[in-house]
Amino acid sequence: MQAENSRPEVRLQGIAAAPGVSRGPAYLLFQGKAIIACEKISDVEAEIRRFESALSSTRLEIAKLRNEVASRLGENEAAIFDAHLLVLEDVALIDDVSKEVRQTELNVEHCFQEVAQRYIDIFERMEDDFLRERASDIRDVTGRVMNHLLGARPEHKVQSALQQVVVAKDLTPSETATLPTDGVLAFATEEGGQTGHSAIMARALNIPAVVGVKGLLAAIEEGDTVLVDGQAGLVIVNPTSATIENYRGKEIAIRTQRDRVMQEINLPDCTRDGHAFAIQANIGGPEDMLGAQEYHAHGVGLYRTENLFLRLDDWPSEEEQYTEYAEVVRRAQGKTVTFRTLDLGGDKRLGDLTDEANPFMGYRAIRLCLDRPDIFRSQLRAILRAAVHGSVAVMFPMISSLDELRQAKQFFQATLKELVDEGVIHSTMPRLGAMIEIPSAALLANHLARELDFFSVGTNDLVQYLLAVDRGNQRIAKLYDPANPAVISTLEAIFRAAQNQGIAAAVCGELAGDPHWAPLLIGLGAHELSMTPTAIPEVRYVLRHSTLAELKDLVVRVQSQTEGVIIKKILSDFKLSKLNYH
Ligand code: PEP
Ligand code: MG
Repeated sequence: MQAENSRPEVRLQGIAAAPGVSRGPAYLLFQGKAIIACEKISDVEAEIRRFESALSSTRLEIAKLRNEVASRLGENEAAIFDAHLLVLEDVALIDDVSKEVRQTELNVEHCFQEVAQRYIDIFERMEDDFLRERASDIRDVTGRVMNHLLGARPEHKVQSALQQVVVAKDLTPSETATLPTDGVLAFATEEGGQTGHSAIMARALNIPAVVGVKGLLAAIEEGDTVLVDGQAGLVIVNPTSATIENYRGKEIAIRTQRDRVMQEINLPDCTRDGHAFAIQANIGGPEDMLGAQEYHAHGVGLYRTENLFLRLDDWPSEEEQYTEYAEVVRRAQGKTVTFRTLDLGGDKRLGDLTDEANPFMGYRAIRLCLDRPDIFRSQLRAILRAAVHGSVAVMFPMISSLDELRQAKQFFQATLKELVDEGVIHSTMPRLGAMIEIPSAALLANHLARELDFFSVGTNDLVQYLLAVDRGNQRIAKLYDPANPAVISTLEAIFRAAQNQGIAAAVCGELAGDPHWAPLLIGLGAHELSMTPTAIPEVRYVLRHSTLAELKDLVVRVQSQTEGVIIKKILSDFKLSKLNYH
């Protein structure tokens, strides 16, 4: 049997990014090159008129934007749009596009993209900083023109993607953060990996998602029905009625099991033989505290503070940060909120951060903060002021050396003193920790532990840096393997260092919220596991139904193996023995 539009069912395997199953009409999100067709046209002059009309619509759009920004932020800020308007007046660029259409008789979107890219390449190679920056102006403006040519305005269309499945080449974390959660049924992307920040956000937003789906855009047309199975990492285009029926059964089974684990949601975090652990929540803002409360999290183990910056797509003031942080601390009702200081960079790009060849190894997190004391200071002030409303811990991301940690701590202490001297707060020092997510930090764990109150292991990055596998690159996603024994020995060494120095060890990477991995992490010596709130019920259930002896035995069995596949099978069998569904 075929779906109504009679196109055949197509199954595409990707990477399971956020659980759940959803089905709906495809909404194709335009993102540049990938979906611009190259077609022969019959009426060259009409094509050029389309181009001219797109140019004048873009001029109006930018002029309007310019006026809005001038009245909201001032003339200086609005000046950027004058530069954008100049791009639209660039006679050479406009002539080149018209010439290309006449010569090739190809559609204007294709010709425009070719010409614009040539200009961008030329400017990007310029020595002069000012001229080089013109490349991003051209990219921005040409994107707008392209949207008019395609009759699409992404920022509005995402809003209108209600009750649809968003299909895109890739979603940036800020695009994911602004998806309307009440209406987007699911999303599927051609790029991305399991621990990319878009996948992490999808889990937090509770939207089923599959990423890294090869051939996705080529297989889907606007209006196709798409089923996203976020559990199996499967995208089914135009599912037959037999497939839909099959999924109905699966959804019922998932719901039944979910009800079972939810029955134990408010029981204590301890194993069957009384070994205590703590499950905490990973959050990105005040709204996520609802999930943290619903699933009885023991406070917040990771507050990704950069999410506010990504949502605003701008640098918030100290006051704006304080307002949001204080709200989170208040909502935690005395439970500890662990603030991670700003972790921008990598796949979390913001405005004037320049593009880099290797962003994950570049200007990111604590490196950026130590280089920009103005940004670091305003964030630390906002956190310390918010701390007045409850219990706060602070940790630094991407620490790679003792020197870096000491600089961060000194800056923190100086900021604290400044606020105390101003009479804004009393002198109470929050607990200080570091993310252990860079191999050098893991090797230095014994030394770092002497200067900290806690570790929080960022397995997402630790795995990527240890194995030299970009966490967001679909082509090498198979190599991103936490079951590589090198990862497991590294984790063991980190927990041992924490234990030797008598400090707490948490895990806040995605492994903590994976019911296959949580038992191993507790067996290896982690005290706290912090995860996206929706992951809490299963992890709590599996651990509560285990004994510490079983978890230690699991560690021994895993450590006797050298192959990732066998290790994964051992973890999967253990999970299934406690929680009988995938
Ligand atoms: C990690 O790296 O595991 C982590 C929790 O931080 P992020 O995913 O934000 O890099
Ligand atoms: Mg990290």
